Amino acid sequence: MSDSLDYDLIVIGAGSGGVRLARMSAGRGARVAVVESRYLGGTCVNVGCVPKKLFVYGAHVRDELEDAAGYGWNLPMDSVSFDWPTLVANKNTEIERLNGIYGRLLENADVTIIEGTASIKNPNTVVVGDKEYTTEHITVATGSWPVIPDIPGKECILTSNEMFYLPQLPKQAVVWGGGYIAVEFAGILAGLGVETTLLYRGDLFLRGFDEDVRRFTEQEMRKKGVRLEFGVTIESVEPENSHYRVKLSNGDTMDTGLVMAATGRRALVDGLGLTELGIELNASGHVVVDDYFQTSVPSVTALGDVIGTPQLTPVALAQAMVLSRRMFGDGEGEMDYTAIPTAVFCQPNIGTVGLTEEEAREAGHTLRIYRSEFRPMKYVLSGRDERCLMKLVVDDPTDKVLGAHMVGPDAGEITQGLAVAIKAGATKAQFDSTMGIHPTSAEEFVTMREPVA
Ligand SMILES: Cc1cc2nc3c(=O)[nH]c(=O)nc-3n(C[C@H](O)[C@H](O)[C@H](O)COP(=O)(O)OP(=O)(O)OC[C@H]3O[C@@H](n4cnc5c(N)ncnc54)[C@H](O)[C@@H]3O)c2cc1C
Repeated sequence: MSDSLDYDLIVIGAGSGGVRLARMSAGRGARVAVVESRYLGGTCVNVGCVPKKLFVYGAHVRDELEDAAGYGWNLPMDSVSFDWPTLVANKNTEIERLNGIYGRLLENADVTIIEGTASIKNPNTVVVGDKEYTTEHITVATGSWPVIPDIPGKECILTSNEMFYLPQLPKQAVVWGGGYIAVEFAGILAGLGVETTLLYRGDLFLRGFDEDVRRFTEQEMRKKGVRLEFGVTIESVEPENSHYRVKLSNGDTMDTGLVMAATGRRALVDGLGLTELGIELNASGHVVVDDYFQTSVPSVTALGDVIGTPQLTPVALAQAMVLSRRMFGDGEGEMDYTAIPTAVFCQPNIGTVGLTEEEAREAGHTLRIYRSEFRPMKYVLSGRDERCLMKLVVDDPTDKVLGAHMVGPDAGEITQGLAVAIKAGATKAQFDSTMGIHPTSAEEFVTMREPVA
């Protein structure tokens, strides 16, 4: 650490990864500044995980209200109303509270917050507005940004960023994309009473998830009234009076009140001056780093969404902890990207950890597959026609559980515990010898006895 420089570390971007890196490094005695151009907490807090989950809760209330009658509650649905601006305003209040918490966390850790857009002038100098700051290390933690395909009428299309601040809900909406963000927003909109169509160019959404999970989610979403159209894409969008005319690749047209694209995200490196500095970007535009987040310039590291590893907050947090330890701690530690659990907060939720059946077969494993499909107890009295899927992918020779997958209520909550077991290398015999918690849906994971394949 050199006293002739302003800082030991300047972090560009106060998102999930940047804030964690700044706090951990300051805690180790480093003099740290973090530069943020938009909002403390980054994507996750402002236009990602947090507001999304609040909207998911909002959408789910409808199911609860509908289910109430079977339990004796008299809540006629035609007397129930929903006010979107209230949900958005309450969500905004919560996000502002979190922005404040992030600010205080940084200040209490003695991290200097610099507001503005940063660029890197040379390997040891960061520029923000008309000020220059010198530093020993620079970390790029600038995240990612949604991309809309270049089609006529692109300017009429919203992304998840704008969806969080929509002034009014339309009657109909088209969600374009097949990834988890598209699926979650289709669920939110449909749950809030919007006639929703999801369009995806592939033959089935949620590529990369277990095939059974994808098919089952398709079936459950269709039952909930979401219109799913695969093998089709949008060719143009044209504003017409108070709606949009959407032209599809199959020759059809449809009218809708809103088009949202969740068609991918790119690394956010605009104006940073990375290529001028000789920092390599890969073909998809992500910053190239080695296993220790080192770019091609020794003083510059990068982490989080901008390097193209799984774009999840816990991944960015874990990377920040490894990098901080390497820069200012004992130098030990490496990232482990195996068995990253994840959830899709559609209705019903998806929870998944470990290998899909397809990945395990491709890797050459001989498998036993355990699969259970049932109606959750909660829906027996309410009469809701929603089913739950649970699946275990087991390596036959070693009995090791390679993957656990679920579609059903609280799948995200249930999968977190399973992730510990799978990370610890649990066998199917150990699952079998674990007592169930009765009566729950989760107990099915320890009571599936007969393989289906
Ligand atoms: C709709 C949506 C839902 C999501 N849901 C989930 C979820 O449920 N679970 C989950 O784990 N993940 C989810 N994610 C992903 C998660 O939000 C990201 O993986 C995570 O935020 C990445 O953290 P990061 O630190 O790399 O970048 P970010 O959190 O994006 O932070 C980057 C920060 O850098 C700032 N910045 C950029 N350029 C500059 C510059 N030149 N100067 C100064 N500041 C700059 C940006 O303003 C931003 O604040 C979701 C994402 C989206 C879009």
